[in-house]
Amino acid sequence: MKPQIIDTFGRPHTYLRISLTDRCNLRCFYCMPEEGIELTEKEHIMTLEEILEISKTFVELGVDTIRLTGGEPLVRKNFEYLVRELTKLGVTLKLTTNGILLDKYYDLFEEAGLKKINVSLDSLDKAKNAFITKRDYYDRIMKNIQDGIDRGFEIKLNVVLIKGVNEKEIGDFIALTKDQHVTVKFIEFMPFAGNKWDWSKGVSEEEILNKAKEQFGDVEVLENPKHSTSNNFRINGYQGTFGIISTITNPFCSECNRIRLTADGKMKNCLFANSETDLLKPHREGQSIKPIILNTIKQKKFSRDGMDVKMDAEQYEKNRSMISIGG
Ligand code: SAM
Ligand code: SF4
Repeated sequence: MKPQIIDTFGRPHTYLRISLTDRCNLRCFYCMPEEGIELTEKEHIMTLEEILEISKTFVELGVDTIRLTGGEPLVRKNFEYLVRELTKLGVTLKLTTNGILLDKYYDLFEEAGLKKINVSLDSLDKAKNAFITKRDYYDRIMKNIQDGIDRGFEIKLNVVLIKGVNEKEIGDFIALTKDQHVTVKFIEFMPFAGNKWDWSKGVSEEEILNKAKEQFGDVEVLENPKHSTSNNFRINGYQGTFGIISTITNPFCSECNRIRLTADGKMKNCLFANSETDLLKPHREGQSIKPIILNTIKQKKFSRDGMDVKMDAEQYEKNRSMISIGG
């Protein structure tokens, strides 16, 4: 389908990220506010049929890639049914997960052709992992990651770097790419409601690269694929690669092609957008949501929902927490 979801900067939007739930089996401190979140009542969450119908509408408007995320997408009931039905839409399906339940679904993913899986892993140290996630699933996650790599899935490890927590592990993560076809994505710590963000806790792209050069010498700069959200690198002779998602110090918005749909059916033009457009209510009322989608994208701002210069606490504290947006 020809892309029709085009913003006022001429950017076609072909990549939809759908949050399947705001529930999660981990409690990563940078994502889930300490006091928890008020979970959305079930009746306000899109049913699987509604997810499929709304996805179909997006596909008719030119979306060709759908990423399933959350909360933790693999805790959603009847996830298997959803994946089977979504593959019938002819889109490239991708997944972002914390990895705990992956072993239950690898056969399904092979069958469905879902190859690209991002797994969050912020530390290679078991105790530190438990500190970050407030749960102890480290062994299971590590086994699932290794099994996924061995089975030929394209596994990317998402690592949110936070000073005083895991920034000393930059080299250890890059070392994983030596003998394994795995990608490590370092993510700059981003602000959302309730996550006590403060950039003095963040680790910048520059610091990450300096660390990599210090430890490994020459770092090969790779050509970024179109719409890439990261700058990508390889250590000479290594099988895998690493990338840096520098949303804070070097945002990559100019070629943005992403739209988000929250678990309660709200369209968000940007991760940092406070404004949301309800698609679920009009869909339930039998209205066509196509004009609503096309109108919403016209309100998209060029970069970080207008936080072009600095991250504005006034704005991000009014946003949702990351767990309820869908990362
Ligand atoms: N539960 C799944 C997982 O952890 O991969 C999917 C949802 S999670 C919200 C998606 C991604 O957002 C994860 O890679 C997580 O590390 C990232 N994330 C959450 N909060 C963040 C923050 N404050 N800054 C940067 N990345 C964040
Ligand atoms: Fe859950 Fe993922 Fe957020 Fe961690 S980052 S609390 S696994 S949604």
